[in-house]
Amino acid sequence: MDYTSKIAKQVAAVPRSGIRDFFELVQGRDDVISLGVGEPDFRTPWNIREAAIYSLEKGHTSYTSNLGLLQLRKLISEYVSDFFSVHYKAESEVLVTVGVSEAIDLALRALLNPGDEVIYHEPCYVSYSPSIAMAYGKAVPVATFKDDGFSLKADKLRDAINERSRVLMLNFPTNPTGATIEREDLEEIAQLCIDHDFIVISDEIYSELRYDDPNHVSIASLPGMKERTILLHGFSKAFAMTGFRLGYACAPQPIIEAMMKIHQYSMLCAPITSQSAAIEALQNGTEAVEKMKASYHQRRDYMVKRLNEMGLPCHTPGGAFYVFPEVGHLGLSSKEFAMQLLDATNVAAVPGDAFGGCGEGFLRCCYATSMEEIVIAMDRMEGFVRSL
Ligand code: PLP
Repeated sequence: MDYTSKIAKQVAAVPRSGIRDFFELVQGRDDVISLGVGEPDFRTPWNIREAAIYSLEKGHTSYTSNLGLLQLRKLISEYVSDFFSVHYKAESEVLVTVGVSEAIDLALRALLNPGDEVIYHEPCYVSYSPSIAMAYGKAVPVATFKDDGFSLKADKLRDAINERSRVLMLNFPTNPTGATIEREDLEEIAQLCIDHDFIVISDEIYSELRYDDPNHVSIASLPGMKERTILLHGFSKAFAMTGFRLGYACAPQPIIEAMMKIHQYSMLCAPITSQSAAIEALQNGTEAVEKMKASYHQRRDYMVKRLNEMGLPCHTPGGAFYVFPEVGHLGLSSKEFAMQLLDATNVAAVPGDAFGGCGEGFLRCCYATSMEEIVIAMDRMEGFVRSL
């Protein structure tokens, strides 16, 4: 059968993830050091894994409330209040989701009518543009640049606004650049959102992983912003819980209600075992987060130093666990550089163009890999750069 006409147009039009394509090439190769996957190398802390096991032992294998276990929502509400300085009611303003990934999809589908425009900054997480397209929206990327550390300024956003603009999507600290947004810039962006009556989807999944200035300011905490922000956060990164697939959205009740409508029919609820683990993470997990963070900090400093020394210039990223060095000046495209590096040295890193057009000429190197491996990877990469 010819399936071309059977697949929905908005799905067929979306390209496959550039990361996935690249990592299929890595599969089956021995001795590859991967700086590729954006996933903590740490095991989920034992007490959190144990809570999942214990929950199964106790026979907790049922559905939960569509919104998620109330105990978990209460803990999320407290955590968000302490960490992001913004209060959400556990009963009606918090939705537990299957990762931030599901929350992104729900938020877009809950907000967009066909043709509505979503402004977001690039380079960015690979799912944004496809998720917008599959929710029938129009993706409007705004480029950020190496010269100012890939920071986002309100002026850049202003140029992209027109009468169809409805939503602003933010992610900071940013995947893949590690850039953060300074408070003053965030205030200007917030004012712009108020002036243009935007809803903001703010993906702050890396907010615990900030190194030089650990005080993360959420856009939801700025005056007038709680009512127009969907704050997305989750357990994958800071708590090293990617496989538990657990995230959450905090937003005004009518928005949570709309997102919940989709979630209850498509997902019903997030897995109860993961929710039990997340309860333990919030009750007794923050010390482990601090330890992992201290290790990422050390690795970041090492990787940034080595990359700059070998002639791959990069800014010092304020957060997340990525460094985004420039490779374009060596006469190779991002893909060519990544492929040749892999072939010559068995070091895998993601070509920057996977994160949007303005990522061309860069490489994403993830430092959620052991220090021993990072040292070997940097040695091999240096040898490769010298050979060009
Ligand atoms: N948002 C960003 C910016 C990410 O980098 C990722 C994963 O890499 C996600 C969301 C997805 O996170 P989750 O595992 O919670 O679905």
